[in-house]
Order: sequence, then structure tokens, then C-alpha cells
Amino acid sequence: MPIVPHLIGGKTDAPAGSRTADIVNPATGEIAGQVALAGRKTVEEAIAAAEAAFPAWRATPPAKRARVMFRFKQLLEENAERVCALITQEHGKVLDDAFGELTRGIENVEYACGVPELLKGEFSKNVGPAIDSWSEFQPLGVVAGITPFNFPAMVPLWMYPIAIACGNTFILKPSERDPSAALYIAQLAEQAGLPPGVLNVVNGDKEAVDTLLTDPRVQGVSFVGSTPIAEYVYATATAHGKRVQALGGAKNHAIVMPDADLDNAVSALMGAAYGSCGERCMAISVVVAVGDEVAERLKDKLSVALRDLKVGAGTSAGCEMGPLVTRAHYEKVKAYVDQGVAEGADLAVDGRGLVVPGHENGNFLGGCLFDRVTPDMTIYREEIFGPVLCMVRVKTMQEGMDLIDAHEYGNGTCLFTRDGEAARYFSDMIKVGMVGINVPLPVPVAYHSFGGWKRSLFGDLSAYGPDGVRFYTRRKTVTQRWPTGGVREGAQFAFPSMK
Ligand code: NAD
Repeated sequence: MPIVPHLIGGKTDAPAGSRTADIVNPATGEIAGQVALAGRKTVEEAIAAAEAAFPAWRATPPAKRARVMFRFKQLLEENAERVCALITQEHGKVLDDAFGELTRGIENVEYACGVPELLKGEFSKNVGPAIDSWSEFQPLGVVAGITPFNFPAMVPLWMYPIAIACGNTFILKPSERDPSAALYIAQLAEQAGLPPGVLNVVNGDKEAVDTLLTDPRVQGVSFVGSTPIAEYVYATATAHGKRVQALGGAKNHAIVMPDADLDNAVSALMGAAYGSCGERCMAISVVVAVGDEVAERLKDKLSVALRDLKVGAGTSAGCEMGPLVTRAHYEKVKAYVDQGVAEGADLAVDGRGLVVPGHENGNFLGGCLFDRVTPDMTIYREEIFGPVLCMVRVKTMQEGMDLIDAHEYGNGTCLFTRDGEAARYFSDMIKVGMVGINVPLPVPVAYHSFGGWKRSLFGDLSAYGPDGVRFYTRRKTVTQRWPTGGVREGAQFAFPSMK
């Protein structure tokens, strides 16, 4: 049985006798391999390798670091098919979707290619007599990234290309459920010219994570995953003196106004609710219909579209939705559907009981649509992370906005309308970090930054883009005087100022 190893100091290895976990193909239920689970000692070796690589990498000119990123981008494009095959084999998402994820990841590498420009700093001449001052952005040192299962290629690429381009060395701890794509991509980064130890991958679970959160040599931690773990990571790592950004879960609402183009809205909702089996932190999981007429029409149109949704193995041509990632997650999502029914929501389309011929042991759940969901229901309050769309009926846009603002999560949201004034009010006032107007998945491009509000993000800076540069660097401000001949001042006891 193949074992997915670690990458430490340029060497791939799975120490004999270490714990392992099974990697299961979600479309077939078959064990495809195993992943090594690093213990404290292995993680400490990775930290030591990253620490040893830091001084030389920090001293490498940014333009040379950028050139590695240019080569990395090229290798990612040349090996895209292999990366996407690994994603689909372990995560389950359809191949087209895997290509979409990889492309968005590569865009972060492209952004990192501009690092000489991004690190230029600020300069002020003559802040005092013959005194100049500048601010520069220095790398933190060893930083760590801990990533979720749902974007095994893209989310690691949100983190280390920019961290490394800024001069840090990095330890990635990918999800143990689908670790192969992340490891393979890291090997491509090494092939592109990263010196050994600049990028390390430790596979593992809580033990590996806890070592990264508490070791004093790790200066910063980027985390993406569920809110309870994000909160734990933030609390633990900040208590150990680290800079932390911890991105958590979501419950993204889309409001559909009576003036919206309903056919467009339905197509957008189908992709945003059921794409990747609803396992996206930006998935639309709640549709808020303004008025009963909109709700009835939406229900009819979505029900028809759901009956045509092609569910099957991610590798099957023409499939639109694959299986859920694990059997346990399948059971959890199905239990939410059962609970929604028990709590009185109207299950307009029931995806339970779907069987994909030839894939009887896969984790397939058909798309589900609930109508008349109310805010007190568990299926409304909690993140289901599956192909389940909940419709809530309201009378006004403001009522819909109040619901969104009252929810604990604030990752993404969207308004479908033709009314520019309503759209402008919505985007200005809504308490959510990423807003779409007629755009259901408003995932910011690589040269903006990604982050939710409320309990969707712990920390002050969002992921990647300009905030990524700020997160992975420390500002240092230097004030410099070279006294010119003859000018000598005596001791000054008043606080220095420009009088
Ligand atoms: P998860 O929280 O279970 O796992 C994320 C990472 O944390 C993994 O690497 C895992 O090994 C580690 N981990 C799990 N339990 C831990 C523990 N007790 N102690 C220490 N580390 C632990 O998340 P997941 O199921 O892999 O991913 C899905 C979640 O991620 C969803 O909630 C989704 O909304 C969220 N997500 C958020 C964003 C975002 O940008 N906000 C993006 C993608 C996914």
C-alpha cells in the first residue's frame, strides 16, 4: 500500500513505525493508500530544516525568489493533469472543478512573481535635518500553514507562494484526508529551484498541528478550516506569541429580489450550492427569496434543475457533482437532512437514497432542496458542507439582510437584482467580508485578498494578495542621519521633534 510521506529538508520520507491513516477514494469506497501521520519529533525536524534554510533564503534577492515562482507556475501548468487527477481521486470533485481550483491557485503564484515590486517599501527624505527614514518589510522566519480537505491544491497555494517569495521558510500541514496533491505540488516547487528546507510538508493530524502551534521557532500560522478548529488554532498560537490568521466556516446567503433575472439566478445557484458537492467555504447554502412569488418560482425552477443534475464519479465525462469526501461526512450531511425534515422544513427535493450504478460504495448524495426553512432550525444555523440548499422566505430585502447580519458567520454573500440602488446599499451595509452582486461565488482574485467577517475569520489580516504580503512580513522603520561636517549638537533632553 503506497504511503504519502513528508517532505523535510528536500527529502521525502515516512519514518518507519509512524502512525498512518487510510486514504479512501470517495467515488468507490476503496482504500487508495495511506498517509503518514507525523509525531512531534518529525514536525520538529521540519521546523529545524526550515530554520536552517531561512538565513540564506532571506538574503536571496527578491528578484531571484520571483524567478523560482515563474518556473513553479510553468511546472504547475505542465503538470496540471496529474495534479487534478490526484485531487479528484482523493477529494472526489469533478475534474473540471479540480482544474478551476488549480487555476485559482496558480494565480497566487503569478501574484508572488511580482514580489520585488510588492516589497518595495516606503521612503521619506529629510524627515529632519539630514535625516532620512524608510520602512521595509522583512520576512518573519519560519511560518506554518494548516489547510482543509476541500481545496487540497488551491488553499496551500494561497499561502506559501507569497510567504516564500517574501523570504520566509514554510511548513505545510495539508489535510490528512486528501494529502497527495499538496505533496506533489510542493515537489514541483522544489523542482522549480527552491533550496531544500525552504518548503517542507508534514502530513499529520492534531499532534502535528499542536507542535506547530506551540514551538517557539514558528513565527506565524495561517490556518483554513472549520470554525471550532480555527478558533482553537488562533487562541493556542497567539498564546504562544505567534502571528495568526485563522479562516473558518461559513453559511453564505444569497438574496433573490423580485426584479432579478430568475433563470440566471437559478443557474448561478445550482453551481454555487451543488458545485463540489457543496463542500466550499463560499458555497451558497441559504437562498433568501424576497416574496412568496419569487419563492414559488425559485422552488419550481431549482427542482427541475436538480432533477437534471448529473451526479457521478469525478472522473466520469459530463458529471457535474461528485461524491462527499468521506463516509463519515456523508453520514453527517444525511443526518442534517433527516433533522431538517424532523424540524418541519419542507424537503422539496430529496437526494437521499441516490445510487450511482457501478459506484454503489461511493459517498453519493443527490442534491437536496429545503423550502420554508426558519432561523431557529439546525439546518439554518449550522454549516452542513454538503449538497443541501435551504430556502428562507422573507418579505423585504432588509429582512433578508437582517438575517445575514444576525448569523454567526460572515464569509460570503450575494444579491441577485437588476436594481443598482438596492445593490449599492446591500454591498455597503451588509456585515460580510466578500460580497457578490449577481456573482454567486465572489472569491476575490489573487491580487485582492480573501477573508470573511465575524466567526469566519480570526485575526486581522485576510489571506493572500496584499494582506498576504502584510501577514508574512514585519515592518521595520529605519531613521538615518549622516552628520555633515561641522554640525555637532550637544545632548538634547526634549523629545525630538521638528519645531
Ligand atoms: P477541519 O477544521 O476539520 O480541518 C482543517 C485542518 O485542521 C486539517 O489540516 C486538520 O488536520 C486540522 N485539524 C482538524 N482537527 C484538528 C484538531 N482538533 N486540532 C488541530 N488540528 C486539527 O476542516 P475540514 O473539514 O478539512 O475543511 C472544511 C472546513 O473548512 C469547512 O468548515 C469550511 O467552511 C472551511 N473552509 C474555510 C475556508 C475559508 O477560507 N474561510 C476555505 C476552505 C474551507
